[in-house]
Amino acid sequence: MKLLLIEDDPMLSSALCKALNVEGFVVHPALSGHAGIAALSSFKPEIVILDLGLPDIDGTEVLRRLRATHIDLPTIILTARHSIDDKVNALDVGADDYLEKPFDMAELFARLRVLARRLSTTKTNKICIKGVDLDVAAQTVHLDQQPLSLTRREYMVLKALMENAGRVQTKDMIESKLYGWGEEIGSNTIEVHISNLRKKLPSEFIRTIRGLGYTINNEQKSPSSPPSSN
Ligand code: CA
Repeated sequence: MKLLLIEDDPMLSSALCKALNVEGFVVHPALSGHAGIAALSSFKPEIVILDLGLPDIDGTEVLRRLRATHIDLPTIILTARHSIDDKVNALDVGADDYLEKPFDMAELFARLRVLARRLSTTKTNKICIKGVDLDVAAQTVHLDQQPLSLTRREYMVLKALMENAGRVQTKDMIESKLYGWGEEIGSNTIEVHISNLRKKLPSEFIRTIRGLGYTINNEQKSPSSPPSSN
């Protein structure tokens, strides 16, 4: 998922970029309000993190201009301001959420996941877990932005697992999604698909729950927090 980070503090920007990359985001860092506004059309982000305290244009003004052309673009603001008015103002102008500096990385990721989930179900039909992006509409899978070549049935198995990430899928459950038309199924067919998928995906992406089935864990790691700053 493409994320535009508008943050003028180079150390914080760099630390956030690294951490967000690990989370599977493709990050474009903009170090000023003008650079951020320009990147809206050149980079075409799907999600925006915007610092309110910018050197050239006030973050609230950046948000106002962003909303004028991108009414639905999910945007989280970062603020070091403690005034209730600033936050209310930012939310009024159209921020989806805000975080006060210094913030915990895990908290930022949690907020981003909420926005990403909303985005995936309403807009892009994408399921993104740990660098694996499955596009339900286009029926494609990308790993770290690179297209993965999957057979039709490998795709169906992966889709069933990713749609139910965090829950165990039994072999029967997966089979019912693959062979809904009375086809004959070999006894180890699902194992073969899973084994082939594992060769193409990060290790440990698909976990075997012995005696039950398979699962994909969608919980994210929590990298340590970057230096906090305005
Ligand atoms: Ca700042």
